[in-house]
Amino acid sequence: MALLTSIKSVLFDMDETLLSHGRDFRELTNDLFKEFENKLNGIEFTRFSKTLWPKAVDMWFMMYDGVLPGAIARQYTITNTLRQLEVDLDLAEPMMERWDELFVTNTSMMDDAESVLAELRAGGIRLGIVTNGYSEVQHRKIDHHGLEPMVDFVLVSEDAQSHKPDPGIFENALQRAGTAPENTMFVGDTPHTDIEGALATGMIPVLIDPKDAHTEGLPVHQEPHHRIRGLKELLTILNGSD
Ligand SMILES: [Mg+2]
Repeated sequence: MALLTSIKSVLFDMDETLLSHGRDFRELTNDLFKEFENKLNGIEFTRFSKTLWPKAVDMWFMMYDGVLPGAIARQYTITNTLRQLEVDLDLAEPMMERWDELFVTNTSMMDDAESVLAELRAGGIRLGIVTNGYSEVQHRKIDHHGLEPMVDFVLVSEDAQSHKPDPGIFENALQRAGTAPENTMFVGDTPHTDIEGALATGMIPVLIDPKDAHTEGLPVHQEPHHRIRGLKELLTILNGSD
């Protein structure tokens, strides 16, 4: 199919755009807790979760600001949780490993993701993934689903040392795509990070919103050029019939 469009590259957010998460953070924390419960000295889930959550947030921002490498930040989320709960610190490493596995294996490809990527590529469009997250976790998800060969490049924010909506990561992505912003579409599910950043860089932002989470008016700096409920609708937009 020849695409009737001035768009030369399409860049995708990953989480909840190309990949869907079956279970949320709290559910995954519960899964982790249950697997290690018999070694946690009778500590209840609520206490475990309330200890871990603020550390996960703090450590994320230590990575975000470039103060700590992500691998250390992630490890110390668990290590300092166990330390505060007075639990054997030797559990930190196996818990970390299992935590990562749970995050990776609870994702699945979004409907039509593979066929839409293939069709865009066949139409000569450059494709990229631009995702906020810890490098190791995001790359494990990408490997788990074999996403890398489906696109021309992958940019994880920890690797880029810049996180959406900062312009740095969008400009980096444009360089890799080799296209001008006005010929570049950015598809994502989060108005603050994906749409705001893409708009500020002059790209064409597309909001994917399958559950109508953002039907209320968004501020003008987060208002997408197009809204879709599924990835297949991209093909309609790019064929100029929207
Ligand atoms: Mg997302």
